[in-house]
Amino acid sequence: MKYSYLIVGAGFTGAVIAREIAEKCNQPVLVIDRRNHISGNAFDHNDNSGILIHEYGPHIFHTNAPQVWNFLSKFTEWIPYEHRVLGQVDKKLIPIPFNFTSIETLFSTKEATIIKKHLLEEHGNNVKVPILNLMESKNRFVKELADYIYKNVFYNYTKKMWDLEPQELDPQVLSRVPIQIGYDDRYFNDKHQAMPKEGYTKMFQQILNHPNIEVKLSTQFKDVSNPNEFKKIIYTGPIDEFFDYRHGELPYRSIQFEFITHDTEYKQKVGTMNFPGFEFKHTRMTEFKHLTFQKNPKTTLCREYPEAYNSKKNLPYYPIPTQENKVLLQKYRAEAEKIKERIAFVGRLADYQYFNMDQAVARGLQFFQKEIL
Ligand code: FAD
Ligand code: UDP
Repeated sequence: MKYSYLIVGAGFTGAVIAREIAEKCNQPVLVIDRRNHISGNAFDHNDNSGILIHEYGPHIFHTNAPQVWNFLSKFTEWIPYEHRVLGQVDKKLIPIPFNFTSIETLFSTKEATIIKKHLLEEHGNNVKVPILNLMESKNRFVKELADYIYKNVFYNYTKKMWDLEPQELDPQVLSRVPIQIGYDDRYFNDKHQAMPKEGYTKMFQQILNHPNIEVKLSTQFKDVSNPNEFKKIIYTGPIDEFFDYRHGELPYRSIQFEFITHDTEYKQKVGTMNFPGFEFKHTRMTEFKHLTFQKNPKTTLCREYPEAYNSKKNLPYYPIPTQENKVLLQKYRAEAEKIKERIAFVGRLADYQYFNMDQAVARGLQFFQKEIL
C-alpha cells in the first residue's frame, strides 16, 4: 500500500490522529513506533500472575471534555472508577488532596475545628485551592496550615519528583493537586472518571483497527527510508531528538518502576499511597487491582522512583515545565515552523507539554480538525 500519511508514535496522540485520517479522509496511514507495542505510555498487559499492570506506571483516566469522552467511547466500554490517594505524613495516613479529614487526622479536635472554620470563612465549602494561593492568606490560621501542608506534603515530594525547588516549576504543576476545602477525598473531580473495561491496549487495538491503517512496531523514524514519499508526517516523539539536539537537550524526568507481587488479595486500602517524606526514595505506590477491579488471589503493586532522564538508560516521561525550558522549547518550535508543510509536531513529547491522556486525545482531535480536514 502507498501511504499518504506517516505517523510516528502509536500512543494516544498518534493513534487518535491515525483513526481520524483513516475514517474521515479515507486515506492510507502508516503508524510506526520504536517500541514493540502500541499504546505508548498507556500500555498495559498481564503480568506472570495474570494481573493487568501498566508497564509505564499507573494510568487513571479522567476528563471533562465531551469530545474526548465520546471519541474514546466508540472503542471501549468503561468501568467507573474514582481514584483515591492516602499519604503518609507524620506517621499517619491522610487523604491527598489534603482535605478536612486530613486536618482532623493530624490535629486535635479543638485545633481542627478552628482551622476548618477559618478555611470555610475564607473560601467557602467544597472549593479547591492551590497550595501556593493558600500560602498567601493573611489569616494566621490558614497561613500556618498552608505552610504545614507545603512542608509536609509538597516540598519533599516535589524535590524527589523533579529534583527542583517547587518555585522553579510552573505553578500549574502543584495546582494539579489542590487543597480541598471540605471532605471530598477524590484525586480528580472531572465529570468522567473511568477505566477502559478491557484495558488500554485493547482500546488502542480497536482505535487502530481500520483497513486504512497499518502499524509497524520496533521501527524508528530514522529507519524510514522514504520519508519524502508521504504527503505529511505527524511526529509525536521528542522534538529535540528530531532536530538532533542542535540547540541542546530539553530535559525530561524519568521514573524507575518497581513491580511487586504479593500472595494476598489486597495490600493497600486505596489505589495509590503517596510518600512525601525523604525517608522514602519512592514517591508513590499503586495497587492495580483497585483501578481495574480484577479478581485474583494475588496482587501487584508498582513503586515509582523518579530519576534524571538519560537517553541511553531510560525513557523521557515528563517534560519539565520551567521558564528556562520554555525558552529552549521556543528554539525548537522555530525550527518546526520552517518545515511545517511537511512535518507536524504533536503530543506530550513533541509539544513538550505536561499533557494528561485526555489532553493528548484532545490535542490529536483538534490537530486533525484544524490541520488535516
Ligand atoms: P506517548 O504515550 O509518549 O507516545 C509516544 C510514542 O512515540 C511512544 O510510544 C514512543 O515509543 C514513540 N516514539 C517516540 N519517538 C519515536 C521515534 N523516533 N520513532 C518511532 N517511535 C517513536 N495521564 C492521565 O491522564 N492519567 C494518569 O494517571 C497518567 N499517569 C501517568 C503516569 C506516568 C508515569 C506517565 C509518564 C504519564 C502519565 N500520564 C497520565 C500521561 C500519559 O501517559 C500521556 O498523556 C500520554 O501517554 C501522551 O500520549 P502521547 O501519544 O502524546 O505520548
Ligand atoms: N505533589 C506533591 N505531593 C503529593 C502529590 C503531588 O508534592 O502528594 C506535587 C508534585 O510536584 C507532583 C505534582 O504535585 O509532581 C503533580 O502531582 P500528580 O499526582 O498530578 O502527578 P503525576 O500523576 O502527573 O505524576
